[in-house]
Amino acid sequence: MRYYSLNRQSEPVDFRAATVAGQAPDGGLYFPETVPRFPAGFVEQLPTLTAAEVAYTVLRPYVGTTIPEAELTRICAETVDFPLPVVAVTEQISALELFHGPTLAFKDVGARFMSRCLGYFSRHETRPVTVLVATSGDTGGAVASGFLGVPGVEVVILYPSGRVSPVQEQQLTALGQNIRALEVRGNFDDCQRLVKQAFRDTDLRNRRRLTSANSINVARWLPQQVYYCLGVAPVAGPPPVVAVPSGNFGNLCAGLLAYVSGLPVGHFVAACNANAAVPAYLTSGEYAARPAVATLSNAMDVGDPSNFGRLLELFGHEYPVIRGLLSGCSVSDAETQATIREVHARTGYLLDPHGAVAFFALENALRTRPEAQGLFLATAHPVKFPEVVAAATGQPVPVPAELGELLRRPKHSTLLDPDYEALRSVLLA
Ligand SMILES: *Cc1c(COP(=O)(O)O)cnc(C)c1O
Repeated sequence: MRYYSLNRQSEPVDFRAATVAGQAPDGGLYFPETVPRFPAGFVEQLPTLTAAEVAYTVLRPYVGTTIPEAELTRICAETVDFPLPVVAVTEQISALELFHGPTLAFKDVGARFMSRCLGYFSRHETRPVTVLVATSGDTGGAVASGFLGVPGVEVVILYPSGRVSPVQEQQLTALGQNIRALEVRGNFDDCQRLVKQAFRDTDLRNRRRLTSANSINVARWLPQQVYYCLGVAPVAGPPPVVAVPSGNFGNLCAGLLAYVSGLPVGHFVAACNANAAVPAYLTSGEYAARPAVATLSNAMDVGDPSNFGRLLELFGHEYPVIRGLLSGCSVSDAETQATIREVHARTGYLLDPHGAVAFFALENALRTRPEAQGLFLATAHPVKFPEVVAAATGQPVPVPAELGELLRRPKHSTLLDPDYEALRSVLLA
C-alpha cells in the first residue's frame, strides 16, 4: 500500500515512511492510494473473531510488507488487549465502550498501535526520535502512556493551559521518564499551529528526528476502523445508525473508511459540541474553519478539524454522496448536561460529556428512523470528567483505584507562550 499527500506536492510513500514522517513534506495528510475491500466472509465472521484478529485483518493491507506477519500479529494483540464491550443503554441504543484502556479513553487504541509500529521501525536507529503532539485532552495521555519507557523515543506534548480536565492533566504531566509536557497559554488550535510549524521547519528537522502522533498519523488513524467492526457485529437487524463524538474527525473518518471497505452501517452521525464547522458544512455544502470554542466536551473543541480533507477525499469531494451517508448535529453544553442527567435517571447508565453529545445526536437522528438500531461510541470514562458528571447527576463519580494513584503524583510541566520561537528553543535545548 502506498500513501499520497492530500496536498499532492510530495511523493507517495509506504506505511513505514508515512508513520515515521507523520505528515507529508508538503504539509499534507497521507491518504491510502486505494481503499481495500474487507476479505470475503469477514463481515459475516465478525461476531466470532477476537479483537486482535479483527485488527490484524483490517490493518494487514495498509501495513503491506513493512512489518512481518508475526510482528504485526503481536502489535495487534497488544493494541487491543483490553475489553471493548457493546452495552445496551435503551431498547434502541447501545454504547460501544472504548474507555477501558490504560488512559480510560478511546485514543489508547491508535496510540498503542502507532507506538508499537514506530518502535519496530526505529529498532536499529541510534539517534532518538521526538514524538511531537498537540492535545485537546486525551491524545496526549494516550500517547504518553503508549510511549512511556520506550527506548530511543522522547515525547513532547503541547496542551492548552486550563482547558483540560484535572485527570487529563495528570495523565500528561505526572508520568515522567521520557514524557515532557508543555502547558501552552492558548487554546488547542494554538497548540496545533505550533506543532505544524515545527514540522515545516527544515532547519529544526535537520537537527531533530521529529514525528507526529496526532490523529493525522496514519498509524493512529487507521486502527480506529476496528472499533466500528467490533461495534457493528453484535447489533441485530439492519445496519445500525452510528453516532461518533467528533473533534478532529479522525475517528469518524476511520468509520467511514471501514464503511467504504464493506462494513454495513446504515447512517453516520457527526456528533459535535458548539464547534460545528462540519455540521454546518453538512447542512450548507460550504466549509468554513472557525475559532475553537471551549465546551464541556473539551476533547472536541476543534475549530478546523484536520481530518476534514480525508472525509472529502474518501468520497471524491461529492457533497451529495457525503450528505446521503452522514448528518451532523451540534449539541450545546446545556443539552449535554441534560442528557447526562436524563440518561442516568432513566437507565442508570453514566455518560461522560463526549458520550452524551453522541447520545443526544443519535436520539435526534433516530427520531426520523424509528425502526433502526443506534450505536454510539462512548469515547471517555465518566471519571475523566467528574465535576461535569457529578453536577449533572447530583452524585459523585466513583474513582477507580489505579486512577487514585496517578492523581496523587506530582505534576511536571513547562509553561509556554503560544509563540513558535519559544517551542523551537525548547525542542533544541
Ligand atoms: C479525541 C476525542 C474525541 C474526538 O475524536 P476525533 O477523532 O478527534 O474526532 C472524542 N471524545 C474523546 C473523549 C476524545 O478524547
